[in-house]
Amino acid sequence: MDLELAGKVVLVTGGTRGIGRAIAGRLAVEGAAVVLCARDAGAVAATVAELSAQGARAHGIVADVTVDGTADLLVADSLTAFGRLDAIVANAGAAVGGPRSTESSADDWEATYRLNVVHPTSLVRAARPALAATAGNVVLIGSISAARPGPWPQYGAAKAALEAATRSLSVELAPDRVRVNCVRPGSIRFAGGAWERYAEAEPDAYAAFVAAELPLAALGRPEHVADVVAFVVSPRAAWVNGAVIAVDGAQQRSSPYPASSDH
Ligand code: NDP
Repeated sequence: MDLELAGKVVLVTGGTRGIGRAIAGRLAVEGAAVVLCARDAGAVAATVAELSAQGARAHGIVADVTVDGTADLLVADSLTAFGRLDAIVANAGAAVGGPRSTESSADDWEATYRLNVVHPTSLVRAARPALAATAGNVVLIGSISAARPGPWPQYGAAKAALEAATRSLSVELAPDRVRVNCVRPGSIRFAGGAWERYAEAEPDAYAAFVAAELPLAALGRPEHVADVVAFVVSPRAAWVNGAVIAVDGAQQRSSPYPASSDH
């Protein structure tokens, strides 16, 4: 199936590693121009170089999405680079603070909300005129933690709020012909990622978790999520709106409580 992404311009936050990097790569293969951002300037430059070497049109921005004004900057820079904007993928996200409520502060909860809810929704606000001009769309990257009990409650609460925002924004932006969807990954393992660190730190607990909670007997890979995101941002998904799409291999619990909180 031709996703009809050739010539489209997509902004991906957090596009230098893991799920965001896979999304940027998939979109580039489909012929889209990709704008990506992250805080690490070296990683941004390296990712843009990799995508460009594959023949893609890519533009990198060094930015922290939790800083006021970043959303406007990202949209303006995307338009300057490629002249239009067809989709945004708000991918940057994480938990701030420890895995138990006793190990996180009110500031951690606010920071988690700012990264996982305020950043994506600020981006929607900033990008709305540009997306209305292209009948574009938005994909917000959620998490299985929104719907399953588990550690890092501040993160699950923020991702649940993101799903609620998805439903409301899809209705609010519909008159502009702008779709808004959420893709909700299960646990995704990749080199250098949090699950890789956990598997190395606590191999027995990791194996037990996979055996008990992953019916397909493995964690997902970034490419599993990227392929679904590429479809959802494409014109072929024209009637997918206000949806929360799970990409989790029927995973049951979100994650185990780690013995140590540094992964
Ligand atoms: P990683 O932490 O591996 O990568 C995050 C990316 O976002 C990096 O490019 C990072 O670059 C960037 N980033 C992080 N914080 C900021 C910031 N404040 N401003 C700008 N860029 C930032 O994340 P994953 O690939 O694991 O996760 C991606 C998304 O998927 C997140 O929303 C996460 O919540 C969600 N998810 C992940 C799962 C998993 O198992 N991995 C499971 C379910 C959902 P830099 O550090 O240089 O800024």
